Amino acid sequence: MSEKPPCTSCGGSGKYTFMDFGLVPGPLEQHESECISCNGTGKGPGPDDCPECDGRGKWWTCSHPDDTPDVEYCKACHGTGKRVTA
Ligand SMILES: [Zn+2]
Ligand SMILES: [Zn+2]
Repeated sequence: MSEKPPCTSCGGSGKYTFMDFGLVPGPLEQHESECISCNGTGKGPGPDDCPECDGRGKWWTCSHPDDTPDVEYCKACHGTGKRVTA
């Protein structure tokens, strides 16, 4: 049984849509980007995936919106994204 549940962040679409409430008046623009929770796969963490990082193997830490996110490797799975069995 390796069937993965749909990603809860994007509902399984693999995409993340957001409205741009920009400073310019006018119609709102809808933007679409890849879901970072599932890397665009639309799949959630499976039973073999690390529960700490949801199988991603790394964390994104955003301190400033304008900065590029800092990537930290998950310490629980050492960046593999796989559940570590003791
Ligand atoms: Zn997702
Ligand atoms: Zn992990």
